[in-house]
Amino acid sequence: MNKKFYITTPIYYVNARPHIGHAYTTIACDAIARRQRMLGADTFFLTGTDEHGQKIERAAQAAGKTPQQFADEVSAQFRALWERMGITNDDFIRTTEERHKKRVQELFRRIRDTGHIYKGTYTGQYCVFDELYVDAVGSGAPCPECGRPTETVREENYFFKLSAFQDRLLQLYTDQPDFIRPETRRNEVMSFVGGGLRDLSISRSTFSWGIPVPDDPKHVIYVWLDALANYITAIGYGSSHKAAQEAFQKYWPADLQMIGKEIVRFHCVYWPAFLMAAELPLPKTIMAHGWLLFEESKMSKSRGNIVRTETILDVLGADALRYFLLREVVFGQDGSFSFDALVQRYNADLANGVGNLASRTLTMITRYFRGEVPYPSAAVSQKAGDSAIAENARKVIAECGILFDQYQFSRALEVAWSLVAAVDKYIVENEPWALGEKQDEESRSRLATILYTSAEALRIVTALAHPVIPDATSRIWSQLGLDDIRKFPLSELKWGQLELGAKLGSVQPVFPRADKSAIERMQKMEEQQRSALTDAQPDAPAQTTAVPVASTPPVAATPTAKSAATVPDGKISIDDFAKIELRVGQVKAAEKVKGADKLLRLEVDLGTEIRQVVAGIAESYAPELLIGRKVVIVANLAPRKLRGLESNGMIVAASPEGGKAVLASFLEDVPVGTRLK
Ligand SMILES: [Zn+2]
Repeated sequence: MNKKFYITTPIYYVNARPHIGHAYTTIACDAIARRQRMLGADTFFLTGTDEHGQKIERAAQAAGKTPQQFADEVSAQFRALWERMGITNDDFIRTTEERHKKRVQELFRRIRDTGHIYKGTYTGQYCVFDELYVDAVGSGAPCPECGRPTETVREENYFFKLSAFQDRLLQLYTDQPDFIRPETRRNEVMSFVGGGLRDLSISRSTFSWGIPVPDDPKHVIYVWLDALANYITAIGYGSSHKAAQEAFQKYWPADLQMIGKEIVRFHCVYWPAFLMAAELPLPKTIMAHGWLLFEESKMSKSRGNIVRTETILDVLGADALRYFLLREVVFGQDGSFSFDALVQRYNADLANGVGNLASRTLTMITRYFRGEVPYPSAAVSQKAGDSAIAENARKVIAECGILFDQYQFSRALEVAWSLVAAVDKYIVENEPWALGEKQDEESRSRLATILYTSAEALRIVTALAHPVIPDATSRIWSQLGLDDIRKFPLSELKWGQLELGAKLGSVQPVFPRADKSAIERMQKMEEQQRSALTDAQPDAPAQTTAVPVASTPPVAATPTAKSAATVPDGKISIDDFAKIELRVGQVKAAEKVKGADKLLRLEVDLGTEIRQVVAGIAESYAPELLIGRKVVIVANLAPRKLRGLESNGMIVAASPEGGKAVLASFLEDVPVGTRLK
């Protein structure tokens, strides 16, 4: 019986188009799945999309679509991208599929039947963006997770008795140190759980885009319970079909659940608690990888520095991206992405590294031995350098495998590529091209040995690297005259398996060198994409009224925007409106203005510059709560002085009669600097 291996990516939330961060997680899982298949494991690799929740309902509404249409479109983008990249997932689950919905309800019933669900009333601040109740006080108070304004929600909910699992969870983390990896994440989770757990609200009645609670369809199941369940529903949990039940028995528990570090709490606290409540086995390992930074700063929609995968696929291909991400980033830690580093790595390790080794070795075999793998000379006439390569290869096979199976991809590839470097040096020192000019028997025999040794080392690197760069290695493999590399039993890889006299396939370069224009091309493609998206921003919501909040002090001059010519019926023309440059800004610093109760001095990032703005919102907002918050700025307002401070622009807020000012804000994320029109 083959051992089984079940691996999952998180299912991706369809509020965003797929980007390089999603690709990173998926690539890591794909590489692991491919290696497991080569090792002979009965592998099941699952990915999918998470499609319910208020955020999707609202995003769909803003786009003028039904939630299902909206989810269909974005989910299709993920599937198309994975297909284009050759991702080998065995299934793709969507949480809006019938199979999933029924089985989630089954899980809910199960947890209810074991006595871990009760009904209660909840009042609290809810962050729509994070789908999370948060510890914040007061209507509109910013979410501690993301800084967006929260909503006060009071609803009758079903609660999950999370508090009952504190001890069992702590015991789990202690008994199974590999349950959460890496160590830093495990420590964070242990201290979070050690601090006490509150029961978790697991239903919502304020919106309907979700899976109805069984026997109480006014409620929908909390989006995280719905989403987490995919890992078992996809393989048959809760199904009445025999085949599905057998698949579940066979594959669950998962061997590896890969996640990003931002969703550790959901996967390492809630998920095992749900499973414990349902009396189901727990996954063996949950591995959290770090963030992909763009040139050292966090990639985020708000910074507008998210890199699309398609750009890299178009210019350098999927293997280049896969190799770069797994080689460059220490898995588990944050890593930096830049087009410069990508191209540099591509040229050094792929074009000049394994690509060059393949093309020169195979070209010389074609030229000097009619394209047939040459017979090396008898061991007695071999030189020390020949056996050193063989020895080196044996060591690399062992070390690379261990490192890979510990998910230390960067080190594993470094080790494999040390063999490429050793063979390059070996070829240079032995000058096979000089021997190729000679016809005497000794020279021919030396040449045969050198080219055999190089080709065999190339075969070994190719087999080891296949899970990471599947396309190029498949091509090198067939150029070596070998069969389907995916079927090669990796656990049997050893020196000396290259078939003597075997006919090579036709030799083609696999990694053409990239020049500087590749970087410029990728940068340009990303810029074009960004400006296309900015132009397509939806109009500002109609109910937002621009009220000059900083104009309350008597010193305020009349805003220039008001002097725009009006048309006879009291309305302004679109041209007049276009004179007002409204932009999204982000508050970087905020403090009270001395001697002015109502004023705050703010530093606001407009994407291109930081502005000082003085605003009359001190009675509504504590300065520290504004940091990080996205605001709307009238960017082309003439500068004016308030209490001796220059105010360069104006923040837009609603000023209710006799009430406090409320800042205009966005429910969906929007890049800093985006113009409202
Ligand atoms: Zn939030």
